[in-house]
Amino acid sequence: MKYYSTKNKNLSISATEAIIKGLPDDNGLFFPKEIPVLNKSFYDNLHQLSTTEIATEVLGPYFKEDIPSIELEKIINKTFSFNLPLIEVKKDVFSLELFHGPTLAFKDIGAKFLAGCLNYIAQDNPKKLKVLVATSGDTGSAVAHGFYGVENVDVVILYPKGKISEFQEMQMTTLGKNIIALSIDGTFDDCQKLVKTAFLDDKLNNSLQLTSANSINIARFLPQSIYYFSAFTHLSNKVQDVVFSVPSGNYGNLTAGVVAQQMGLPIAHFIASSNANDIVPKYLETGLYTPRPSISTISNAMDVGAPSNFERLLELFRNSSMNEMVTGFSFSDIETAENIASVYNECKYILDPHGSVGYLGLEKYLENNEAVGVFLETAHPVKFKEVVEKVLDLTIPIPVHVKPSTNPSLKIEMKNNYSHFTDFLLNSRST
Ligand SMILES: *Cc1c(COP(=O)(O)O)cnc(C)c1O
Repeated sequence: MKYYSTKNKNLSISATEAIIKGLPDDNGLFFPKEIPVLNKSFYDNLHQLSTTEIATEVLGPYFKEDIPSIELEKIINKTFSFNLPLIEVKKDVFSLELFHGPTLAFKDIGAKFLAGCLNYIAQDNPKKLKVLVATSGDTGSAVAHGFYGVENVDVVILYPKGKISEFQEMQMTTLGKNIIALSIDGTFDDCQKLVKTAFLDDKLNNSLQLTSANSINIARFLPQSIYYFSAFTHLSNKVQDVVFSVPSGNYGNLTAGVVAQQMGLPIAHFIASSNANDIVPKYLETGLYTPRPSISTISNAMDVGAPSNFERLLELFRNSSMNEMVTGFSFSDIETAENIASVYNECKYILDPHGSVGYLGLEKYLENNEAVGVFLETAHPVKFKEVVEKVLDLTIPIPVHVKPSTNPSLKIEMKNNYSHFTDFLLNSRST
């Protein structure tokens, strides 16, 4: 598969180049030349296939020219090493639990897959790779764990000081080795801007081989389409009209769902569920795309004012109507918190704030539409226990496979200042 830039259709580069570069020079986004439709026999057998078998079929066309199938299989086996259960919360409403990985969030999957790809690519690379990632919380911890100990790759994570949960901060600041965490005095958008500026900085790129791990990287974005295939394997063959509600921030997850659909997965409709950062729902309503500074909410992994995958969504809907396939809704923190309480009272199911936004979107859509609904539960409620425990007045135990680290924090505090950041990059090295 070759990749072009959403800003330059004539570009044609390999998966390896697209993975290493992260972003094209023209500030667009890499996009596959083709979204291949998989064989009917694959779909006929879907229910018999394991997640890793599905991933091999789905991801093969995008990566196999660059990563030999045996290596790709190894990466896939490491990536999809935990369950993606589908839980019926109430009649025709299912929670696709994507939070059973090491950092309890769906980003574990994309991060692990990208780490595997980069680890393979870096074997032949003359310069050590440096991954830069801006995070509003979950990306950072997932990337930190996905890359921890990977030999030829250093990781620098930027997060907005005081704006992520203690648990998230602990997960990325206590690892050490090849993982460096920068606490930036600013917002998530400031962190993202520092990273984006660094990628476009020729002087810096002459000295360092930088690469991205945000959802903009094709090796993070594409594997997310597997969630949707996996959900179908749990639903009866007889079910018609399956709709997915995706709690969204940067829209990587929802965009990957649209990729799955265009590969032939029979998804009937998508619901773009957002918190107060309602840029995409507003676009769907008015046709106007108006990015703006992000607003802090209790579903903070979705506090994004300029969703980075929006251009990919436009690309996927070049020949069809986004409005016919995607409905957008936005919910306040009060609605999100009240819904956590009412779903617990009614169904004894504990939502996290992001899943709660997804649930609300689904419920609203189902008021006027007949369908079986799946909402993506993107984080374990314990990751947002400050919110969930207060609303429900109970204690959520941390799953046994994720013990809080007792190691000291190794975070480095930094002003929101580009030259401080580049000085640091040029002089830092892993411990
Ligand atoms: C990142 C994240 C989201 C948003 O996903 P996007 O792909 O950026 O839209 C939702 N929920 C949680 C818990 C997340 O970490």
